[in-house]
Amino acid sequence: MNNAHEIHALSGAYAVDALDPEERAMFEAHLGSCAACQAEVASLREATAVLGSEVEAAPPAAVRDRVLAEIATVRPLPPVIDLAGRRRRWARPLVAAAAAVALVGGGAVVW
Ligand SMILES: [Zn+2]
Repeated sequence: MNNAHEIHALSGAYAVDALDPEERAMFEAHLGSCAACQAEVASLREATAVLGSEVEAAPPAAVRDRVLAEIATVRPLPPVIDLAGRRRRWARPLVAAAAAVALVGGGAVVW
């Protein structure tokens, strides 16, 4: 980030704590000497604090009741695993076992 305009653009992400550690360190070094970014960060933090308190709401009781009623009808899915890789890993021993069974079985018939 060499462009001076780009560092100013990080003020929004900084205000909501969305910068990675490297960007944060770079922006904080800039913030100490940039009145525009200080004002922007203060304004955005004030706005996000207001938004956070305004959107807090409990769901209607009917939603909770419906979720709890329907959760009993949902069968949990098994974890997703790589069946292709597992089949490949097991295919060779299975073929060998099947061949051994066939040989022993064939031998017993011959005997
Ligand atoms: Zn700035």
